[in-house]
Amino acid sequence: MKSAIEETFSSLKGRLHGDLLRPHDEDYAHARSIWNAMAARTPALIARCADVADVQTAVRIAAAAGVLTAVRCGGHSLAGFSTCDRGLVIDLSRMRQVSVDRESRRGRFAGGCLLGSIDVATQQHGLVFPSGVVSHTGASGLVLGGGFGWLTRLHGLSCDNVEGFTMVTADGSLVRANARENAELFWALRGGGGNFGVVTEFEVKLHPVTAVVVGEALCRGDDISGVLRHWRNFMPEAPDKLKWNLNLRLAPNTENVPVDLRGRPVASESIIWIGDPEEGHRYLDHILSLGKPVAVTRKVVSYLALQTMADNEFPHGRRYYTKSGYFKSLEDSSIERMEQALTTVPSPTTQIELAYLGGAAARIASTETAFGDRRSPFVINLLANWSDASEDAANVAWIRNLFKVLRPSMAPGVYVNFMSGDEDDRVPEAYRERWDRLVEVKSHYDPTNFFRLNQNIPPKKTAAKSGNL
Ligand SMILES: Cc1cc2nc3c(=O)[nH]c(=O)nc-3n(C[C@H](O)[C@H](O)[C@H](O)COP(=O)(O)OP(=O)(O)OC[C@H]3O[C@@H](n4cnc5c(N)ncnc54)[C@H](O)[C@@H]3O)c2cc1C
Repeated sequence: MKSAIEETFSSLKGRLHGDLLRPHDEDYAHARSIWNAMAARTPALIARCADVADVQTAVRIAAAAGVLTAVRCGGHSLAGFSTCDRGLVIDLSRMRQVSVDRESRRGRFAGGCLLGSIDVATQQHGLVFPSGVVSHTGASGLVLGGGFGWLTRLHGLSCDNVEGFTMVTADGSLVRANARENAELFWALRGGGGNFGVVTEFEVKLHPVTAVVVGEALCRGDDISGVLRHWRNFMPEAPDKLKWNLNLRLAPNTENVPVDLRGRPVASESIIWIGDPEEGHRYLDHILSLGKPVAVTRKVVSYLALQTMADNEFPHGRRYYTKSGYFKSLEDSSIERMEQALTTVPSPTTQIELAYLGGAAARIASTETAFGDRRSPFVINLLANWSDASEDAANVAWIRNLFKVLRPSMAPGVYVNFMSGDEDDRVPEAYRERWDRLVEVKSHYDPTNFFRLNQNIPPKKTAAKSGNL
């Protein structure tokens, strides 16, 4: 008797416009790889879909056979959800079409797009879709979970800028979700992750931005707590056009960093101003006058340069582990704990990333989308980044210990896209008062939990697909 996966292979063979790969195929090694080497897996089949019909075929056949199935856009899930062992991967990397309507400032992009594919196409019209800060990140995973980036304070989360989705459901049918059609699904897809089906197209709002002012600097150890306190007090009153992020880390061993500082704890500042450069420079003057920053740069850069500025800091194939949370206010004791932790960080590329949201993202009511709480503006992401598997335990332990000491000061809630794969117990925390409504939508569109490789919202056990939602 054939196994379920052999059955799936036989049924899919010759049926796709794209490719179907098995472990002995030439392209398999490349197609199998995902961004986080900690989550490497060996799927039995990879269906590189070329179009929506391929996605429908793959879903129908895999669901009928009961085969474990992962869905992949950019493969950047920190938790490794876009791959699996012995199952099927529905890989959307051949579906990267983007179209732009300059007049109406609207765009459409396919479910396999990377952020960079969208930026390049929209910038040809002087427009942008607000997304994340690394261009090789997949757009689908990012947008479906929420999506923060340089433009969040000015134009909201990525999901706030989506006006419609086209999605393949667990039974292979194609549905549209927007404010008029399938409004509950439209609500759920803006923050609820990949729980409901495979999104094949996003219809989005675009905004005019072509260049921004960027300031970067490193604050020495003595200045870290002073700058963090100032940042915490300053950002709640800052204009939406200003984004000021701080990363606590060890100073890199690069030419522009003073020799005595290399490998020492620093706060790395990124200050972005989206608007009139003269006004932006006044904000930069103020921020860069705090303490004695070094390796200071300030320039006006193109939007595409901004979006690729951090690409090399987070390469594919390294080992990553993360834990994240929100603070309503950032207490002095938390600042001290982070500073203290830096003295024992095991890897020079690990970072404590701090961002302040607020602005347009905070002005959307918490009931309007499934995305988690918008009332806690300080986001912290503890991101360990190392290369040698023998150092896994030390790096994971460092993140867990720091998270444990910071956790009592955090507000409840977590951003699903900054969670690791060992945090299922925190998924209800991510959605809290939105949880029951999400379970209803999940039960309607995916009653058997076919789409379960994600920060999972399980359907009701007895749910059967019926009626309208
Ligand atoms: C280097 C790096 C930088 C990042 N920067 C940011 C940032 O600036 N802002 C931010 O908000 N987040 C950021 N993130 C987190 C990011 O949002 C998540 O890692 C996100 O999951 C990446 O999306 P992806 O499409 O690459 O993921 P994948 O690994 O392909 O998929 C992630 C999840 O989404 C599901 N999924 C993927 N495509 C679809 C689809 N078409 N339909 C339905 N479900 C789908 C998958 O099944 C899986 O559960 C970053 C991550 C990395 C690794």
